[in-house]
Amino acid sequence: GATIELENLTKRYPGSAAPAVDNVNMEIKAGEIVIFVGPSGCGKSTTLKMINRLIEPTGGRIRIAGEDVTHMDPVKLRRKIGYAIQASGLFPHMTVAQNIALVPKMVGWPKSKIDARVEEMLDLVGLDPGEFHGRYPRQLSGGQQQRVGVARALAADPPVLLMDEPFGAVDPITRDHLQDELIRLQRELHKTIVFVTHDFDEAIKLGDRIAVLRERSRIAQFDTPEAILTNP
Ligand code: ADP
Ligand code: ADP
Repeated sequence: GATIELENLTKRYPGSAAPAVDNVNMEIKAGEIVIFVGPSGCGKSTTLKMINRLIEPTGGRIRIAGEDVTHMDPVKLRRKIGYAIQASGLFPHMTVAQNIALVPKMVGWPKSKIDARVEEMLDLVGLDPGEFHGRYPRQLSGGQQQRVGVARALAADPPVLLMDEPFGAVDPITRDHLQDELIRLQRELHKTIVFVTHDFDEAIKLGDRIAVLRERSRIAQFDTPEAILTNP
């Protein structure tokens, strides 16, 4: 795992009156699962996108394992961070296997290792490799697309996982299985995981700590599920 430090992190979108993320300070420990909960529009996705360097902060700093994300080599950044989102973000012109192989390929894994890894990841998310390997995203249900999105995020074995409502469309039995897998990845491989959800039961099940956010991503509470349940 790797620590994630947010220091005075701020994002103001061009033309908007108020910042979407306003001066946030937070330290996520190596090997910890932190859940972001908070009302729609409070800046959760914006924060994750900044950590993943999909959008540029207008102020402050992000460090992963002590290193400033802004200056990190792009390939190194892809090695460090796996990212899964509700909309899956799969490339429509690529097969399931090509989507999952994307980051391992980018970071230079050998082909034989990538092929084995794609199979392993499909098994992990409960999709039969023989059946799904060569399909295109449009040939999958919403829940299946999300599962491939999760497989893609995990494929290159990154120490950090950023997950933005990754199981929203996944059926309850598979969701339960994937939640257990995330807990296993954290316990056995010490992944640092930041996970956004609207589902409070999911937050309680997965979270070592829960960050309750208000508008502009201001932190209302940041504590263990037990503490949050006893002192809401
Ligand atoms: P959440 O993930 O908590 O629902 P978001 O991070 O998506 O919140 O959005 C935070 C705020 O920033 C919202 O007010 C939203 O309307 C605004 N916002 C998000 N993306 C953009 C954008 N590309 N341009 C302008 N405003 C945006
Ligand atoms: P850093 O030098 O930033 O620590 P590493 O090169 O150690 O980055 O890679 C970070 C992660 O990416 C490791 O967890 C490793 O499993 C994975 N990884 C990167 N490249 C390869 C590779 N060629 N084969 C296997 N794993 C790799």
